[in-house]
Formats: sequence, C-alpha cells, structure tokens
Amino acid sequence: MINKISSEPSCADPFDPNSIGMAEALDKIEQRVLPVHACERLPIRDCLGRVNNEEVKSPHNVPSQANSAMDGYALAIESLHAGEIAELREIGTAFAGTAFGERCGPGECVRIMTGALIPEGTDAVIMQEQVEISDSGQIRVDSDHRVGENIRQAGEDVQQGQIVIEAGARLNPADLGVLASLGIAQLQVKRKPVVAFFSTGDELMPVGEPLEPGKIYDSNRYSLFGMLSNLAVDIIDLGVVRDEPEAMREVLTLASSKADLIISTGGVSVGEADFIKPALAELGTTEFWKIAIKPGRPLTFGQIDASIFMGLPGNPVAVMVTFSQFVVPAIQLLAGTSLRRPALFRARALEQMRKKPGRTEFQRGIASLDEDNLWQVGKTGKQGSGILTSMSRANCFIVLPDDNAGVEPGDEVDIQFFDWFL
Ligand code: AMP
Ligand code: MG
Repeated sequence: MINKISSEPSCADPFDPNSIGMAEALDKIEQRVLPVHACERLPIRDCLGRVNNEEVKSPHNVPSQANSAMDGYALAIESLHAGEIAELREIGTAFAGTAFGERCGPGECVRIMTGALIPEGTDAVIMQEQVEISDSGQIRVDSDHRVGENIRQAGEDVQQGQIVIEAGARLNPADLGVLASLGIAQLQVKRKPVVAFFSTGDELMPVGEPLEPGKIYDSNRYSLFGMLSNLAVDIIDLGVVRDEPEAMREVLTLASSKADLIISTGGVSVGEADFIKPALAELGTTEFWKIAIKPGRPLTFGQIDASIFMGLPGNPVAVMVTFSQFVVPAIQLLAGTSLRRPALFRARALEQMRKKPGRTEFQRGIASLDEDNLWQVGKTGKQGSGILTSMSRANCFIVLPDDNAGVEPGDEVDIQFFDWFL
C-alpha cells in the first residue's frame, strides 16, 4: 500500500531538480549583465566608490624631484673618510617647499628638513641622531654611510607614464589620494547604475500606521534601501505593488523604462498570488527561477528590454541573503567592474548545526576571536527565513556548502563577514 503523498519539490526539500547551483547562477549573471555605457567627468572626491572608465597614466614622476626622507644633514659621501670621523662645515639649511640655491662642495654639508629638495653636490642624508656637533660647530660624521641614504628618489612612488589606476577599478580612498598626488582634479567615471525596487503583497502595510489584522509591515523595502544605499547606485523606490497581474505588468513596464536593474520582493513562489513569473514571461525573458540555496531558493533572474530583473523571495532573511550573493555581483557588473567574491574565513563551530546535503545554506552567525586569536562562530538562534532579527544580530553568514550534512561542535566551517555588503 502506498502511504505517502507524492509531491512537487518544495522549499522544504533539500534537493530540487529545477534549481541550479550557486556557481552556475553566478555564471549566468556574469554572461547576462553588461556594464553601463555612459560616463561623466567628476571632481575626484565625487569619484569615491565609482568605476574608473579609462586607465590613468601619471603625467609626471612622484616624487617629482629627489628629496629628503629625514631631518638631518645632506652631504657628498666622497666627503667622508673610511674608518675615520669627518668634520664638515654646515653652509646653510634646506627647508621643504623652497629650493636650496647654493651648491654644496667637498668638506661641506647642508642642514636639511624632511621633504626638502636634495641640494646640488650632495648624494646622501645623514640622520641628525647619527651626527655630533663639535664645540666649534663642525658636523662630525663617521664613514658608515652610503650614497642615496635617506633620499626619496624622483619617480620612486610613480614613474611618469606609468598606469596608476586601471580602467574598471572601483575608486577607493587611497586612489583619491594617488590622483591628488598627481595633481589630477577630475576623472571620467562610469555613470551610476539605476536600481528600481518594489515590494509585492496584499498583506503589506506602510510603517507609521496601526497594524490591521492579518497584515504585516513592509520591512523588505527598508532592508533593501539600506543595502542599496551602501553602493554607488541611484535608487528608485516604487513602493508596494498589489498581488494582481495587471499591477505587476504595469510596475515592471514602468521600471524597465527607468532602471538598469529592477528588484522585486515576494510573489515568486508557487502560491496562487505569485504573479512575478507570469508577468516576466509576458514582458521579457527568464534565465532561471530557482537556486539551490537556503534561504532564498525562489529567485527569478531575467531581463525586460535592456533592464536586468531580479525577483527576490518575500521572506526578509531570504531577501538579504539573495541580495548579498546575487544582486551585489549584478550591480558590480552593471557598474563596470569585475566580480569580487567575498572572502571566506575558517571558524570553529561552537554548536551543532543541522543540515541536509543538496543546497548551500547561509546560517546567521556571530563570529568572535578565541583566546588564540582564531575565529569561532555560533548561530544567532532560530534560523527561519522570516526571522529578520537573526540578520541584525549576526555579523556573518555561516556558509555550509551543498554536500555538507551537518556540523558538530568543534568542526571547522566557512564564514563570510557581513562587512563586505552591509
Ligand atoms: P511571498 O513569496 O510573496 O509568498 O512571501 C513570502 C513571505 O514573505 C510571506 O510570509 C510574506 O508575508 C513575507 N513578505 C513578503 N514581502 C514582504 C515584505 N515586503 N516585508 C516583510 N515580509 C514580506
Ligand atoms: Mg506575496
């Protein structure tokens, strides 16, 4: 007798033949998402976090001329005598910012400040701590010094013509400093990708109003807003869309006319009020709609005209997991930079973690350093995909790969810190 109901694969099953693996999903995203074309020229401070469009070559050497790395005395090494102490006559002081006009001859030295140009006739700077001053004011130096000592050579940091910032590089604070050190005031960067997002669901209510029976507040638009605000994108909040096919078509048409990337949450499961998939099928193309991860399996990826569409699940934790793993890479590609995968660190599990093989799980963890400065990690408690406080309390994902069949206390696991996207 058959005593089991045969069922379609569901969210509860560890394995679903319709879902694709994480690596395959990322490959498809990489194949599909093209960088934005347009560029703009901006003052370098406004380029932070933006993507450089054309390689930057240095217009000159940095430093432009040889200068002193120390406060001390500039001299010619030839003025020193092997195995003896030489006594040199100080002829003046070289300060940073003004050239020392005179030539330094044999048996002479110049008092020099850090950053001052190296005076003509000298080839070394002796630290002031390494000289003695005689009663008559002569500078006494031993012979234990070499040509070039304490001199920053011209072009030592950057040579004229050298590429300092590649095309496609995302500009960080050090890059701004390097550009400034070359005297470059403006840079051509790619325009920011435009990202439109909306929530779906008749149960959703705006914050600030009393909660009606059966309703929930729309939290996804807030976590999405927060995550997008950390990235160099322009955002368009399209609000909440009712669970109706017509409303779905309307918002997708509007969004595709304005945005490079459209993100929705909810409405991608197999329930009767899930209208995202049919609307996408009608208006665009679907590349995949299920990924073998937990939480976040139902994730629709496709395209409407020139806009990329990512339909994230409704559950709040699944929204943040799929955003971090798939939306961030898509935005990197749109922005015109290459994919940066987040680093994984090894950590010792502090507790048991149940898991079945078949998909990659992102449990929420709290990692800390143990007494030997090694990472250890525990879970935030209940791991349901609706438990959003698990995300706000955690500082990392505990990433359990497809084949993992559970973790015992003391086992090593991979963790991925949130700071790369939060
Ligand atoms: P769905 O995929 O639309 O069936 O949504 C799955 C679950 O996520 C349901 O319990 C929804 O109520 C919840 N959910 C959907 N959208 C949101 C949202 N914007 N904020 C908070 N929870 C949501
Ligand atoms: Mg829904």
